[in-house]
Amino acid sequence: MDVNTPLRELPGVGEARAKGLEKLGLRVAGDLVGYFPRSYEDRRQVYAIAEAPVGELCCVRVMAAEEPRRMRIRRGLDVTRLKVVDGTSAMLVTFFNQGYVRQALHRGEEYILYGRVELMGIHRQMTNPQFEGAERPWACGRIMPVYPLTAGITNHLLAGLVERALRELPPPAETLPDSLLARHRLAPAAECWRSIHFPADEAALDAARRRFAFEELFYLSLGLALLRERRSRGRGPGFGETDLEGFYQLLPFTLTGAQRRALETAAADLALPRPMNRLVQGDVGSGKTAVAAGCAWLAVRSGWQCAMMAPTEILAEQHAKTLSAMLAPAGIEVGLLTGSMKVSEKRKVLAALESGALPFVVGTHALLSQGVAFHRLGLVITDEQHRFGVEQRAALAAKAGGEEDFSPNVLVMSATPIPRTLALIIYGDLDVSVIDELPPGRMPVKTVLVGESKRQRMYGFVRDQVKEGRQVYIVCPAVEENPDGAWDLKAVTEYARVLGEQVFPDLHVGLVHGRMKAKEKEAAMAAFTAGETHILVSTTVIEVGVDVPNASLIIIENADRYGLSQLHQLRGRVGRGKHQSWCVLVSDNRSPDTRARLKVLTQTNDGFKIAEEDLKLRGPGDFFGERQHGLPALRVADLETDTRVLKEAQEAAAELLAADPELTELEHRPLLEKVRRLFEEDPDRFN
Ligand code: ADP
Ligand code: MG
Repeated sequence: MDVNTPLRELPGVGEARAKGLEKLGLRVAGDLVGYFPRSYEDRRQVYAIAEAPVGELCCVRVMAAEEPRRMRIRRGLDVTRLKVVDGTSAMLVTFFNQGYVRQALHRGEEYILYGRVELMGIHRQMTNPQFEGAERPWACGRIMPVYPLTAGITNHLLAGLVERALRELPPPAETLPDSLLARHRLAPAAECWRSIHFPADEAALDAARRRFAFEELFYLSLGLALLRERRSRGRGPGFGETDLEGFYQLLPFTLTGAQRRALETAAADLALPRPMNRLVQGDVGSGKTAVAAGCAWLAVRSGWQCAMMAPTEILAEQHAKTLSAMLAPAGIEVGLLTGSMKVSEKRKVLAALESGALPFVVGTHALLSQGVAFHRLGLVITDEQHRFGVEQRAALAAKAGGEEDFSPNVLVMSATPIPRTLALIIYGDLDVSVIDELPPGRMPVKTVLVGESKRQRMYGFVRDQVKEGRQVYIVCPAVEENPDGAWDLKAVTEYARVLGEQVFPDLHVGLVHGRMKAKEKEAAMAAFTAGETHILVSTTVIEVGVDVPNASLIIIENADRYGLSQLHQLRGRVGRGKHQSWCVLVSDNRSPDTRARLKVLTQTNDGFKIAEEDLKLRGPGDFFGERQHGLPALRVADLETDTRVLKEAQEAAAELLAADPELTELEHRPLLEKVRRLFEEDPDRFN
């Protein structure tokens, strides 16, 4: 075989399995070595029956004491059983629905079994072990890789193919300069390729993992640093207006110190002739909108247009309303653009943007569509960034058009407090401001966890809050998330009806969910904002950004179904005004893990702490639900545990660029090539 040999041509593969392998991204022999194991099984120790640790996966060397026999237990269940022995003891082995073992195992032959030894009284037994001849074992007696699989592809097949590729193909070329290898005491590639699949021992595996983790993080850091470099050298609008006094006069409140710092840092960036790329990160309710508004004000006063992109229509509409009210006294008009607007309305907005008559537009990703063109786009704001990928941010910025090295200023606002390690990677190409202070007079939201038995008391509490003039959110799992008759899930529509007709017939109960028509959604939100609706039953569409300061209670049904960060976002819908606010998490889930997870929320209001817990509990892969940050996937590096390696890799990248900012030196050219490929690789790597 050579690197280009199609896998279908290899013995034991064939057409059907080749299709399965292709699903895993494996087409030719050269792909195999780069397919990394998900985990490993330590099969080095081979035990005698009596010595095998009970309940743990292990290898046991045995002799078949009889031919395997078929037992009939019930229709459709094929059971094969045989007794195996070694010098000192015996054990019963059972296979379910694996009739072929009756041909594969023979009395008097020796085998190594891999599985769990269980105790039945004083007898040992094993069920469905893997097995191979004891003469020349392949999978036992060493550390075996465990690969991510798909239907029709066994780990055995894949491990066999990879081993063959390692044996017959030249190892992939070294991709790190010698100086880096020496400096960071990294093992050379050739050795690591073998060890990452078939490590001789833990030390070899650690060395290989560390090397590949370093390599991934190094190239990622290098790519992000180059992006940042390149952008900072490009031309930006350079806003002429720098004085914020006029803006401060428009605000109904005084900015907090943290808001002011973030805004003034941004204002300084905006005045420079190179584009700003800044992330403003602040916990829910910290007042990020005001910072964005200040930047927009500077843009418009300087004769540039501003576009602000929000992840949901509800949020876009809300922003358009607040910003419009705030900026109108200064004569700044704010338009709205969402996918569900009437064509005629849209057309008006589009024309005004193109002619430059409309200086400021707020919208959803509808802003990215083809027909949207600007007269002079100078500032792009994305709210709740974790919902957008790197490219979407870039796509909107690209609407500024013009000369090649020109980019508009970019301001990104994120409410997801991202643990520092992750932020370094995800926002590696942005400068960061943190708003670490809440507006004055805010009382921390009190959070309680209750079970079904408290439901009536909880409804009593809802009534009390409404009597005091407050409003209430009740959040249920989304309409579409009501599979196979799970009748205890409060399907949101039905729940709203029952609440309105039976529990609170004297109150106004509203409803909003993602499947509603835009107009209905808008009307429902408007009624709640105006205080006409006392109780708003909703799905998580209110998760991001929705701001109704009079709401003082949020009840989250089936709270165990959400991640901690998401619950924290939802909780952020209350505690926005001067009233004591409450969050009630409803869950009857008794699992100790789930309860421990939910308890975190009752103990802290600190978004960063919660995000860190969430990261610990769910792992970074899951942290964003899907990979929405738009960066190449990490295959080996683990952002949670590889923080030391991350730091080293980032320093190495920074040093390299300090010495050779464009990577033009001959020995650095391959690095540049590799970064290019990494960041340009097929699109699904980017989302
Ligand atoms: P977030 O950071 O979650 O986007 P918002 O910008 O929606 O927060 O602000 C939350 C609420 O706090 C809004 O009602 C806003 O008017 C109010 N607010 C923002 N800044 C201040 C401030 N400095 N003083 C008082 N209220 C403020
Ligand atoms: Mg917000």
